[in-house]
Amino acid sequence: MNNLEPNPRTAAILMTYQCVAECDECCFSCSPRLKGNSLNFGKIKSFLDKIKHIESIKVVVFSGGECFINFKLLVKSIRYAHDLGFLTRCVTNGFWGTSIESAREKIQILKYNGLNEINFSTGDSHQKFIPVECVLHCAIASVEQGMLTCIAVETNSSKKFKVEDFVNHPLYTKYIQGQKYSKLLKVMPTIWVSFHTNTVYKFDKKLLSGNNEGCDGIFDTVALEPRGDVVGCCGLTSNDISELHLGKIDRVELNKVLSSHHRDFLKAWIFVDGPKKIVETASKWMGKEAPFFAHKCLYCAYLYNNKQLLGTIRDNYESVKEEVLTRYLEKVVIYNSILN
Ligand code: SF4
Ligand code: SF4
Repeated sequence: MNNLEPNPRTAAILMTYQCVAECDECCFSCSPRLKGNSLNFGKIKSFLDKIKHIESIKVVVFSGGECFINFKLLVKSIRYAHDLGFLTRCVTNGFWGTSIESAREKIQILKYNGLNEINFSTGDSHQKFIPVECVLHCAIASVEQGMLTCIAVETNSSKKFKVEDFVNHPLYTKYIQGQKYSKLLKVMPTIWVSFHTNTVYKFDKKLLSGNNEGCDGIFDTVALEPRGDVVGCCGLTSNDISELHLGKIDRVELNKVLSSHHRDFLKAWIFVDGPKKIVETASKWMGKEAPFFAHKCLYCAYLYNNKQLLGTIRDNYESVKEEVLTRYLEKVVIYNSILN
């Protein structure tokens, strides 16, 4: 590990862009029709073998799209990651929890093969395709098996289904409330922003506060996406930012591409200050008002896809470079020390 570079802690594998649902604001536009966009075991194995040499990576997250569509491949990949010594987590919409029994069956297989944690997403948009009862069946099966379980509930001011609705559901009350394993379940709001429509949602200020901070994700996570690209973060707009795509898994030398990823000044600045502050600073240099977005990844996509803004940053960054790099090194030292 290099103490002057932020060592990645998490690997993410987006198994597929296919999903059984088609949520209105899905960041990767996943849908049942995206059938050809999936990883095979060869690519997953190659990625896991490569990240095994980065000793700071402890956790592998399996996601998508919907990673349970090819359950056999998911189980085989989790097993392989587990045998290499990684902790494993998967993220799903819970469509497979059609009954508590069927959920128990799947969770037992996953646990036996090394799954440590499972995250579910639900809320108004998801529930147009997947009833919340499916998610509850899965969550019940998973905490019964002693697995850390997290439920992310889509949140903005227009959403009717809330965190309280999940914990007040009769299935929650009957099977989870007051049980010794109930502490294993966390139900939390997650910001739901507009990616494909021009809908402007309102948000609680608390949910937006993260936008003013640096983005750890840019150096914390190394991802493999369904077309075989290694990506420098798994942010919501990472597919709209070509600079975050570091090369094809069968061709890249991971250490080399990560090193140049870390040496890129704009990325270091994103790590320190986050894209919102950079957009605001560059807009000031241009004598313009900065735009408003509800999510830091939307600022990031705006930043990388706005040639005028990028040009202004290129012309002016020397005036902030030294100060940003000083704070970058300070943050790297703290960030890496949390690992040790
Ligand atoms: S369930 Fe998740 S991956 Fe599937 S369409 Fe909805 S947001 Fe996208
Ligand atoms: S802000 Fe940018 S770098 Fe950070 S997670 Fe989002 S897309 Fe990735």
